Amino acid sequence: MTFSWVQGLVCSDCGEAFDFRYLLKCPKCGGLLDLVYDLRQASLADLVDDNFQGMWRFHKVLPIRNPAHIVTLGEGSTPLIPAPRLAPLIGIKALYLKYEGTNPTGTVKDRTSSTAVSSAKQFGSRAITVVSTGNAGTSLATYAHRGEIYSVIFCYHRGDPIKMSHMSLMASKLCIFEGEYDDLIRSVDRCVEEGLAFDGGATRNPFKHEGKKTIAYEVAEALETVPDFFFSPVAVGEIFIATYRGFDEMQKMGMVDRMPTMVCCQSMQAQPIVAAFQSGKPFQPTSVQPTIAKGVAVGDPGPKGPRVLEILRQHSGMALAVSDAEIQEAQRLLAEREGLWAGPTGVVSLAALIQACRNKAIDSKSSAFCIITETGLTSQYPPAHGQVVKTTLEDVRRLFSCV
Ligand SMILES: [Zn+2]
Repeated sequence: MTFSWVQGLVCSDCGEAFDFRYLLKCPKCGGLLDLVYDLRQASLADLVDDNFQGMWRFHKVLPIRNPAHIVTLGEGSTPLIPAPRLAPLIGIKALYLKYEGTNPTGTVKDRTSSTAVSSAKQFGSRAITVVSTGNAGTSLATYAHRGEIYSVIFCYHRGDPIKMSHMSLMASKLCIFEGEYDDLIRSVDRCVEEGLAFDGGATRNPFKHEGKKTIAYEVAEALETVPDFFFSPVAVGEIFIATYRGFDEMQKMGMVDRMPTMVCCQSMQAQPIVAAFQSGKPFQPTSVQPTIAKGVAVGDPGPKGPRVLEILRQHSGMALAVSDAEIQEAQRLLAEREGLWAGPTGVVSLAALIQACRNKAIDSKSSAFCIITETGLTSQYPPAHGQVVKTTLEDVRRLFSCV
């Protein structure tokens, strides 16, 4: 049995095909590369291999040819949680939350860290690197540690302290930068091109983002159908593009009969794709203002930005930007109504869905799923507001009078 159905690479710009090897861009035109699989007619049951755990149950559509190269901590198989209290409150018939906070480092990034580090081992790299606002650095350092390869992680000095503590324990080398972000990215990209480390970044590596594709497979498997709308946060565009690829592959294999309407969700402080989509103009990078959703604070996503825009335009998608106040409201409602505590970046998709329902941009009889990308346990907390109590029996007993 062939472990992976991967065949090679194809350029999404000029269409040139390439043999299966480690390439970051099209050698002919510099365009974005996609992996190509032998997509035969199959059912989801044919595809799944329950000898493996988590997202590696879908190894046939992941780009690792030898199982010995897989580096895993059990990522994937995250719960798809119905939201029976939140859905009627915001005005939608059915809402499902793909809660990625149960991954090993508490974020969706673990899926891509697993495919990135496994790919690094597959292609013989001894080191991997990324520039990160928090989650990506923590996750990649953890998987590199697990896979026994060297990690060089660059983290912004204003990152969440909890994530930075975690990262400092896992990274082979943690570099906290204070200068210009764009200068650093250029320098790190150059080192990657010189072969000093495998690319753990999100902007161009076609192998890395494949891990997030399994979200689409897991949702289709759990629901046995495709929801009407898929709300995806977009920073560089990894989740959006990868999940789109997942649904597209399933449609080609005859596993599903339609695609969900893809909704690109960004922060109002960093919304280059929303701005281009709503104005009908070509993609342009924009400046970024501070936002509590640090994971989506990207003004120049590189070549994946125009790609997200192209998918939105070809498939009649939607693009929405939300304010920090809307993000905090989504965070509070998710906790109050469904008992889930997610970080601000994690609820950008939910905040956009609430906005869409409020503005009647989607039919209230629809079904939707939102990716909740991270746990709230690794972000800076809002101040706790508990009640100070005395500890005598009478005082404690009185507290139960509300029960
Ligand atoms: Zn090309």
